Amino acid sequence: MNVVVVGGGVIGAASAWVLARRGHRVTLLEQFAPGHRYGASHGTSRIFRHAYADDYYVDLAARAYTLWRKLENDTATELLTLTGAVDHGAPVIVTPRVEALAKAGLASEVLEPREAQKRWAGLKFDTTVLYHPDAGRLHADRSVAAFTAAAAALGARIEYGSPVRSISASEVSTDAHTYVADHIVVAAGAWTSKVVDSHVTLPELVTTQEQPAHFLPTTSADWPSFIHHPGAELDGEGIYGLQGEEGVKIGEHGTGPIVDPDTRNFVAREDGVDRLQTYARTWLPGVDAASADPLTCLYTTTPDSNFVVDRVGNLTVAGGFSGHGFKFAPAIGELVADLVDGGTSETPLFRLGARQIS
Ligand SMILES: Cc1cc2nc3c(=O)[nH]c(=O)nc-3n(C[C@H](O)[C@H](O)[C@H](O)COP(=O)(O)OP(=O)(O)OC[C@H]3O[C@@H](n4cnc5c(N)ncnc54)[C@H](O)[C@@H]3O)c2cc1C
Repeated sequence: MNVVVVGGGVIGAASAWVLARRGHRVTLLEQFAPGHRYGASHGTSRIFRHAYADDYYVDLAARAYTLWRKLENDTATELLTLTGAVDHGAPVIVTPRVEALAKAGLASEVLEPREAQKRWAGLKFDTTVLYHPDAGRLHADRSVAAFTAAAAALGARIEYGSPVRSISASEVSTDAHTYVADHIVVAAGAWTSKVVDSHVTLPELVTTQEQPAHFLPTTSADWPSFIHHPGAELDGEGIYGLQGEEGVKIGEHGTGPIVDPDTRNFVAREDGVDRLQTYARTWLPGVDAASADPLTCLYTTTPDSNFVVDRVGNLTVAGGFSGHGFKFAPAIGELVADLVDGGTSETPLFRLGARQIS
């Protein structure tokens, strides 16, 4: 089948890889240059973890894990570094994750704050801590490049600087060309609702400009990836963090201003940086809180934070990754390819159509 993929972020690139492996003739159209900073998939680090409360996501992460290792093998590139991950904060949030990991047969440990403190000197803990070892960080830029290179090696055409202006039932048009397609995959991140025709009912998609920051570590201690869920002594939206090659990155989850991806300003707000520094001073004894170096990136969030991976006719939409899609990318590529190959949506969680706010 001729399949045109619109969007070369991690989801479009992963979809192109899986589709090419299944023997489809794939053309991936990306409006910007390789490695661009305008969407959601750039940078050096993303958390990989299995600890979700919903069994479906735990299973999806496990499927993704195997495929990340396959991609590393196929491209001889190191992408996933296991450091383990901790979840702490309100027990009502942490306990279902403990149960879901146990149900899936994945290794995990529950530690008291004092024990956790001894193990990870860079962090402070106020409640029971869940640790699971099959977690860590993905190198974001290298991952997108690896998917793209692996797809190209299997014959996919990758066209950069090719903004898609319109799609119809069987054609995709850029300024320079019209591509005939048996199936079209839209993986356009924050641009999804601009690309998809209005006859397709998307859940409401809200694009926000998020602004994590890197901090210089002051200790050589080990850093797990971590999620500090609200509750106990922490208010607000919670904080995620991990160590990467640029330092210890921390960020709030989904608190940024609503933006248009074509007109946003790429400027981190001072109040947001102040909040991260206050968090670092209180909770991260292993970083220099004054050293905050912010960056910006886009979330495209659905009302219930579940993704959209669904098909109407010969159009498949993979979007709304709600700030947690990177880790699943190769497994999403499989779901996309299943839809292209005639399957139906594997889970009701990811269906097109209106959604309730959860
Ligand atoms: C700050 C931050 C931290 C995050 N941390 C994590 C994490 O720790 N773990 C995790 O799992 N996830 C994380 N995420 C989420 C994850 O990065 C995203 O879910 C994922 O990158 C979404 O990828 P995407 O391909 O859907 O979107 P994008 O990367 O934005 O890709 C969409 C692509 O489509 C292209 N495009 C759009 N319109 C057109 C058009 N008309 N023609 C051609 N091309 C077009 C765009 O240029 C873009 O390249 C984080 C996100 C952010 C912003």
